[in-house]
Amino acid sequence: PAGAELEALQHADVARLLPAPAAESDKYRRGVVGIAAGSARYPGAAVLAVSGALRGGAGAVRYVGPAGAAVVARFPEILVSDAGPAKAGRVQAWVAGPGAGDDAGAVAEVLAADVPVLLDADGLRLAERDAVRRRTAPTLMTPHAGEAAALLGVRREEVEGARLAAVRELAAAYRATVLLKGSTTLVAGADGGPVRVNATGTPWLATAGSGDVLSGLAGSLLAAGLGALDAGSVAAYLHGLAGRLAADGAPAGAHDVASHIPQAWRNVR
Ligand code: AMP
Ligand code: MG
Repeated sequence: PAGAELEALQHADVARLLPAPAAESDKYRRGVVGIAAGSARYPGAAVLAVSGALRGGAGAVRYVGPAGAAVVARFPEILVSDAGPAKAGRVQAWVAGPGAGDDAGAVAEVLAADVPVLLDADGLRLAERDAVRRRTAPTLMTPHAGEAAALLGVRREEVEGARLAAVRELAAAYRATVLLKGSTTLVAGADGGPVRVNATGTPWLATAGSGDVLSGLAGSLLAAGLGALDAGSVAAYLHGLAGRLAADGAPAGAHDVASHIPQAWRNVR
């Protein structure tokens, strides 16, 4: 209804939004997603973000950061750059932050790029608010309640007690699309409007690395050409379904969630 504060993304909407390569497509037209993630301490976050990105519809995944060896060992199709994001070559959307540690320079370079950017985890903490607000290309931020609270300067319980207000406030403060993770996921657009709610997930998704997979998946959808609100909500929808498929009656690890994205995708199609 008009004026509704919340809207649920329907199966048919997701099916319509899923990228599909045209007959004449090539990998560049399908989109290259850049992943600036991982560190010596958290190489697995890079691997998981890449695993999500590979299943999100971009034509190529480019990895930039200190975990290149681990990433290529697991996924030989990944392009790896030694240079920082600014010199990494063609990228149609960036994901910055999962397990990234304290590399504020890489986050600043990504924010300076004139393409959509997804900020998660350390990337949320390291991004300067004004650098995000100044951007003309879309920004998608994907905090959980604790990260959202840190950005707003309030306690986690305050976000958990008023999730709709918190996601809207963050979107306005950063002029960004904000995806607030949790048992349900809320996605608020940068320009107001109804907040999208996703409830396809399962509590089994409350597992280490789960959010890293989501960030790669959403980044890949951005590179494939979806807008930030659509990329975030479609990613949450698929990620939730993939979590259910992976944890079908038994716990699953985040890498299993990533492996089930194709099955989730086929179920939507
Ligand atoms: P992160 O906290 O960054 O690892 O992300 C966790 C992911 O799991 C997000 O996509 C959450 O929405 C999802 N998640 C966490 N807890 C639950 C839950 N209780 N029910 C459904 N999804 C959840
Ligand atoms: Mg996380």
